[in-house]
Amino acid sequence: MKNLASVSVIKDILAASGFKFSKSLGQNFLIDENVLSKIVECSAIDKNSGVIEIGPGFGTLTQRLCMAAGKVVAIEIDKTAIPILEDNLSDFDNLKIINEDVLKCDLHKIIAAEFDGMDVKIAANLPYYITTPIIMHILESALPVCSLTVMIQKEVAMRIAAKEGTKDYGALSVAVNFYSEPEVVAHVPPSAFIPQPKVSSTVIRLKLRDKPPVVVADEKGFFKVVRAAFGQRRKTLLNALSNSPAIPLDKQGISKVLADCAIDEKRRGETLTLQNFADISNRIF
Ligand code: SAM
Repeated sequence: MKNLASVSVIKDILAASGFKFSKSLGQNFLIDENVLSKIVECSAIDKNSGVIEIGPGFGTLTQRLCMAAGKVVAIEIDKTAIPILEDNLSDFDNLKIINEDVLKCDLHKIIAAEFDGMDVKIAANLPYYITTPIIMHILESALPVCSLTVMIQKEVAMRIAAKEGTKDYGALSVAVNFYSEPEVVAHVPPSAFIPQPKVSSTVIRLKLRDKPPVVVADEKGFFKVVRAAFGQRRKTLLNALSNSPAIPLDKQGISKVLADCAIDEKRRGETLTLQNFADISNRIF
């Protein structure tokens, strides 16, 4: 079997197949053995694991996942990559390749059909143009999944892992922390990919929570408060919430809610913990 984590092997495949990397599909393929091992190791994949890989490309990560897992389902949008992927991974009988957009697949159905009784994990070197939509789609879908280990743009990883009171903390940090516990695994330079991306990358592991870390009466209302608070970052909490059409209270009403929560109305959204957001939204919605 070919080791796909190699520039010369990838170049041979390109020459033989006429495949052209698509910038618009975020095709930056991994060629660094250590990074590939790290993704597989920190996903804690074993023979009882069913793994969904998003965007297998030529199958460099897929190869490792198939060796470690009981079964792998790889979902790739680019139909021109499919014959190459099938050829590269023809040795594995525990792999299913699906040619679809991951955002349009019925992941619940795939998990029920393919991974009966297995621990389900998701692993990917994600296409950077839709990193956040893919992560949020998976987290909000309430899939029976233990973890999501993904390579993403470093800047996005820093926003996800940011703590309150820091400049990177925002609606994305709150949303991802509501559904999961993020852990930064490793930073990865552009030289680990072909072609090289313009940005640095980070492997991040999201351990999905059984239930959110705060009690929220109305989840949609909770996220309305979060979006309103960060929508106008430089404004005080009182102004940001009362300027938002999504919050059904006037300035006086919001002032009372904040006082009841013992939160200074001059604070900014970026200083609030998940518990603060829950306290506020539970008094409004
Ligand atoms: N896993 C391969 C690797 O590490 O070498 C390729 C990773 S590359 C960063 C991202 C892959 O995701 C590409 O193969 C691209 O075609 C695929 N992709 C892009 N958008 C997608 C989508 N919406 N659904 C499924 N795959 C997608």
